[in-house]
Amino acid sequence: MKVAIIGTGYVGLVTGSCLADLGNEVACVDIDAEKVAKLAAGQIPIHEPGLDEVVARGVESGRLRFTTSLAEAIRGAQVAFICVQTPPAEDGSADLSRVEQVAADLASHIADYTVIVNKSTVPVGSSVIVDRIIAQRLAAQIEFDVCSNPEFLREGSAVFDFMHPDRVVIGTTSERAAGVLTELYRPLGAPVIVTDPASAEMIKYASNTFLATKISFINAIAAICDAVGADVKDVALGMGYDARIGFEFLKPGPGFGGSCLPKDSKALIALAAGNGYDFQLLRGVLDVNDEQRRQIVRKVERLAGDLDGKLIALWGIAFKPNTDDTRDAPAREIVELLRARGARMRGYDPVVSETIYEQLGIEHASGAIEAAEGADAVVLLTEWNEFRWLDFHRLAEVMRAPVIIDARNLLDPHVLRQIGFRYEGVGR
Ligand code: NAD
Repeated sequence: MKVAIIGTGYVGLVTGSCLADLGNEVACVDIDAEKVAKLAAGQIPIHEPGLDEVVARGVESGRLRFTTSLAEAIRGAQVAFICVQTPPAEDGSADLSRVEQVAADLASHIADYTVIVNKSTVPVGSSVIVDRIIAQRLAAQIEFDVCSNPEFLREGSAVFDFMHPDRVVIGTTSERAAGVLTELYRPLGAPVIVTDPASAEMIKYASNTFLATKISFINAIAAICDAVGADVKDVALGMGYDARIGFEFLKPGPGFGGSCLPKDSKALIALAAGNGYDFQLLRGVLDVNDEQRRQIVRKVERLAGDLDGKLIALWGIAFKPNTDDTRDAPAREIVELLRARGARMRGYDPVVSETIYEQLGIEHASGAIEAAEGADAVVLLTEWNEFRWLDFHRLAEVMRAPVIIDARNLLDPHVLRQIGFRYEGVGR
């Protein structure tokens, strides 16, 4: 099938390259000329395991190309995926302006029946908006359908997730469009749920905010565990064996971050409020999440004392391991909270680019031990595997004081305490 991808970011690039890998002819378009130039030169602008190989295979086969021209990308395409960002507006609602802009542009370029697919995370009713924008602007009587097809991939395992989805959700009232998309996704062998667009759009928000709720729930339990002397790791294990609960998303930490869970939670609260429902539960989820950042900083103060003038080493800046994405990462808020207490900071993350440290206003180290040289405390913020296997004896030697706040419960407290560290995890 001929496919156009509009917006070649985390979702668009993975979707486009994976669809090319499945045998489709894919053109990815982006307004960011620098990104397109990099991709055309064989450079992958993001860190995503396995993506470079899939992109290289696609380009080599001639089935995957990159352009800044929507007209060129859409020519002959049977399906056009909208994968642009939908960041929060001032009031927390999703800013649809980029999606609307793409819809308006598409109207002047489609020449034959096209299935237009909203893959961006968009509030309920967005399919209708996109449909209206295109219909109003179409010069000729050209048939088209607008569908919702939310994406559930996770950064850090995006290629695997795209190729092995738990389910594919297609929201449309058109049998013809449902047929085209079912055919496109058939090689994945995943369950396909065909529903109306509003339900498909809601499935995405309900899924993401349920995951956010699970994280805040276990963070709240962890806070109580801290107070009463229980170990949240064992508590989560004991809960997880219950098939109704499951093990996933029961790991306490510095609170959820990234470009999806915080923004989608705010957007659903705004959508609910706009429809007369006060989503108290989800507001609570965000409150717990904010509190979690402050909890981590309080732990640093408890172990390292007054932070004024102290040097704090930050291990991990990305919002999770195996990605370079720092959008809404817990590290961002924690840096601000530590700075407000007068701390200096030096950070290390295996893949995050140097410009991010400049943006955050912190020093950049080339390794975890280097980051900790002369430091009064290490705060482990991202559970990169390499932090498990460090020489902790050496770490204790280079630090000014052997203090670790393990915001991801990655390390072994017994081993560290034996070496002489003052250690605090989350809820253990
Ligand atoms: P992103 O910022 O990485 O990528 C968006 C891309 O769209 C950018 O490269 C931008 O330059 C491009 N763009 C913007 N306007 C354009 C236009 N008019 N024409 C062409 N290109 C344009 O964003 P992302 O993380 O890929 O997220 C995209 C959408 O997918 C969001 O709605 C997000 O909520 C949703 N989503 C993201 C993830 C994730 O893990 N990142 C997972 C599921 C769903």
